[in-house]
Amino acid sequence: MNNSPALLPLQCLKCQSALPAGVDEVAWVCPTCGQALILDDGQPSGLSLLTIQYGAGIPSGGRGRPFWVAQGTVVLQRETYSGNQSQQASEFWQSARIFMVPAYACGLDDLIGQGMQLINQPPSLGVGQPAPFLPVTLAAEDLRPMAEFIVMGIEAARRDDLKALKIQLNLGPAALWVLA
Ligand SMILES: [Zn+2]
Repeated sequence: MNNSPALLPLQCLKCQSALPAGVDEVAWVCPTCGQALILDDGQPSGLSLLTIQYGAGIPSGGRGRPFWVAQGTVVLQRETYSGNQSQQASEFWQSARIFMVPAYACGLDDLIGQGMQLINQPPSLGVGQPAPFLPVTLAAEDLRPMAEFIVMGIEAARRDDLKALKIQLNLGPAALWVLA
């Protein structure tokens, strides 16, 4: 094996077509049969079948943006220097929240900012037609650390002086959504 950063030799599990897999990508739709697949190191083939959900409103001819979406519950231990907002925090996290994390290539600040905004104002996901989408580069396993960054971002943005934060995050199963 050489280290050439060319295409990975991945084949569709359904029709054996070669997948046009870029090195940073972790999920694809087979160009021949339309089956969605995800990288899975636990499988001899290196792949598992995947179901992709498509939101409404992706313009025809445009490309949607993939997001990992999972419901999460959060329990916090907060310590503050001053201006304690822990009551507001526990009210906010009292109900389960929907985490939506960009799965396409974007900077960490952008990812956290979008995740914070989407948790505060969840879009209605609707159901649309399959459409092309930006390359999926965030592995499903990375949803948890990214969701923790989003919780940290939300807590750091409260109007108090946070000294220490302990996050206990329980995440449900992740789904891949492609949104407008
Ligand atoms: Zn196929």
